[in-house]
Amino acid sequence: MDPRAGVPLAPLTTLRVGGPARRMVDIEREDDLVAAVRDADVRGEPLFVLGEGSNVVVGDGGFPGLVVRMAIPGIEIRRDGDRMTVDVGAGEDWDAFVARCVGEGWRGVECLSGIPGRVGATPIQNVGAYGQEVSESIVSVRAFDRTAGEFRTIDAAACGFGYRASIFKRNDRWIATGVRFSFEAAPDSAPLRYAELVRALGVGEGDRAPSVVVRQAIVALRRAKGMVLSADDPESVSAGSFFVNPVVDAAALARVEGLAAERPPRFEAGDGRYKLAAAWLVERAGFPKGWGTGRAGVSRKHALALVNRGGATAREIIACARTIRDGVRSRFGVALEPEPVFVGCTWDESGEEQARQGQ
Ligand code: NAP
Repeated sequence: MDPRAGVPLAPLTTLRVGGPARRMVDIEREDDLVAAVRDADVRGEPLFVLGEGSNVVVGDGGFPGLVVRMAIPGIEIRRDGDRMTVDVGAGEDWDAFVARCVGEGWRGVECLSGIPGRVGATPIQNVGAYGQEVSESIVSVRAFDRTAGEFRTIDAAACGFGYRASIFKRNDRWIATGVRFSFEAAPDSAPLRYAELVRALGVGEGDRAPSVVVRQAIVALRRAKGMVLSADDPESVSAGSFFVNPVVDAAALARVEGLAAERPPRFEAGDGRYKLAAAWLVERAGFPKGWGTGRAGVSRKHALALVNRGGATAREIIACARTIRDGVRSRFGVALEPEPVFVGCTWDESGEEQARQGQ
């Protein structure tokens, strides 16, 4: 389990940009994780935890520290009455796990089908899609607390789950090593609320459908949007959604409505706030699907994904994203925030300035 030096990171990410890791190690056991963290700390080296690389932008200079590739395996199942409690290692493949849940007839994550990544990454940003969030099925997260130097089991209530958010997000303190889920033992889905999905299935809003059928429909919808990784689909060379759907107050919503030619899609987000569709803002601000002439541009299948059309650099991807962010801000006054994690590079221009001054 000795780290390897100078490992190229671009092939380990779905966006396929960025330079090498100074060192990288695959971790399959918690003991090895502790040893790797100690080693990095002793060397004063930064540490980054990589899973499937589906939500990261690696800088062109690579990462000047230790990359820990999370590969802890294991699925342990316990029946508790009509529920299943399932402990899953952070390194398990997420979609293979969802397929297993659907196949076994466990209800709770069927709408999260077709999402790339590993299980340990799902609580970090509380992955959600088609009306379901992973936090609805999480009992607890097992994580190494780098501050205390020990493992902790954090109950869902203490995970701070919110819209694409948790206490783990953009927080170096925690490294998730496992997730405990609780599912109902039932072969049909949770009530379906997402209009596009309900339409595709030909059911009514709030109806249930066999989870196997729901999974098939969602994978087909995602594929049509270039959101299923495939060597045959150049539009899938992306980091998925590049921007988080912004949640705004009533005044900001009224401003967008006043500026738009048509009524923007918006969803109540509680506390008098509204979630806007980032893809809609991007397109209406002048960045349609397929926008961009260089090696980085907007996906031809989905306005929310930025695609590496072959040989793009991280700098080009980030420049493209900032152009879109600035365009949306000047057109609608809404600040888009990126969804991916930036490794060895920064999103804010001020971060780059600080890095330059520190050199
Ligand atoms: P869409 O159907 O074009 O709708 C645009 C946005 O409106 C969605 O992002 C969704 O927010 C929101 N929305 C639509 N119906 C909603 C409802 N009934 N209740 C609450 N919010 C609703 O969206 P899309 O971009 O094609 O994505 C479809 C689904 O797949 C979304 O849930 C999206 O999150 C998920 N997805 C995620 C990724 C990723 O990489 N993270 C990529 C593709 C698709 P939410 O995103 O909050 O659901």
